[in-house]
Amino acid sequence: MPQITTLAYAEEGDRQDSLASFREQFVITDPDLIYLDGNSLGRLPRATAVRLVDLVQTEWGRDLIGGWNGGWIDLSARIGAKIAQVVGADADEVLVADSTSVNLFKLVVAALMVQPKRHKIITDNLNFPSDLYVLQGAMRLLGRPLQLEVIPSADGVHGPVDALSQAVDDQTALVTLSHVTFKSGYLYDMQAVTTQAQRVGALVLWDLSHAVGAVPVDLRATNADLAVGCTYKYLNGGPGAPAFLYVRRDWQDKLSNPVSGWMGQAHMFNFTLDYEPAPGLRRFLSGTPSVLSLAAIEPGVDLLLAAGLESIRAKSSQQMEYLINLWQEQLLPLGFRLNSPIDPARRGSHISLGHNEGWRITQALIHEMNVLPDFRQPDNLRLGIAPLYTRFVDVWTAVARLRAVVSEKRYENYPQQMTAVT
Ligand SMILES: *Cc1c(COP(=O)(O)O)cnc(C)c1O
Repeated sequence: MPQITTLAYAEEGDRQDSLASFREQFVITDPDLIYLDGNSLGRLPRATAVRLVDLVQTEWGRDLIGGWNGGWIDLSARIGAKIAQVVGADADEVLVADSTSVNLFKLVVAALMVQPKRHKIITDNLNFPSDLYVLQGAMRLLGRPLQLEVIPSADGVHGPVDALSQAVDDQTALVTLSHVTFKSGYLYDMQAVTTQAQRVGALVLWDLSHAVGAVPVDLRATNADLAVGCTYKYLNGGPGAPAFLYVRRDWQDKLSNPVSGWMGQAHMFNFTLDYEPAPGLRRFLSGTPSVLSLAAIEPGVDLLLAAGLESIRAKSSQQMEYLINLWQEQLLPLGFRLNSPIDPARRGSHISLGHNEGWRITQALIHEMNVLPDFRQPDNLRLGIAPLYTRFVDVWTAVARLRAVVSEKRYENYPQQMTAVT
């Protein structure tokens, strides 16, 4: 292999890449665009475009209501079973429904209701804000004194592992964290945190949104109680695609869904007036699924399963190592900080670079350099590696264009004021 900060290294990396052909399975309209936002919205798989046309024209257009018997009614469970393979769960432990926030709400309330004598909920300040909002909302309506402890990260990058383990005690009902944090990309040791919390009888709920499809997750081996996650990031399910939820099998009949709708009713089509939860996981469904966006998830999951999570992780690790070496040699002198863990074992699949001009640099990259990262307050340029379609040369080119934006001061043409969605 050539030296690790050269273009030749990237070219050799692409030549030897066993996943290289997966890129052709995605719609790529502009070959010059360096897309580094697959951690926020994954690319469109070609098969998804075909599937959606067929779904709309044939299943909806021709079959009409018959589509429900033709497979729509089972989609939540059937695609859930495929996602289960990606996260190391059994087929009957994962369902697709609603958004991540809504699923989180359902499982948080269920976990707090089953532990009426405990009053502490523990999370960290690296968690996705929506997760904290959901916790606050759930606490307001439960009508008993509950206490939320948001453990701060010492450096804003690494999870506060020691402080967390000190905070968890026999009053703790629930520990909930992002497996990979959305800004710094810190990857928690799921096994260690889960074991520690369960030792004192607390439940553990993992938000896998930034982990699923990017790092190997083994819910079975770690014995995690509950999990939720997103399908439009590394699973490539499409904008607003429904999320998934996981409930370990032995919990399923003990927990109650607070949004107890007819899709989770034991005898759905009896239309009786009193709710009786379905046995097993189906009780965590609420209303009619979004069939169009639900079906769109499947082809992306099939691609991940075909590639294999171990290969995906290996490529992601190698690409991030390359990126970090380039940062050290070429970007550090230009004022970029590493806002992600330096330890590869503690990183997900995106890297945040901090810069005082981060927002303006992001704008210049998008509008002049055909590079699409995203920006997260206060100074983070997030560079997402999605190994199914990110090439080594993309990493090289992105860094070269970043260098140009800063050394040529192109960012000075952009206002400091931020716009709403990045
Ligand atoms: C992206 C993301 C979500 C998304 O939540 P939605 O309700 O689907 O909008 C939730 N949690 C985390 C950690 C995320 O990264």
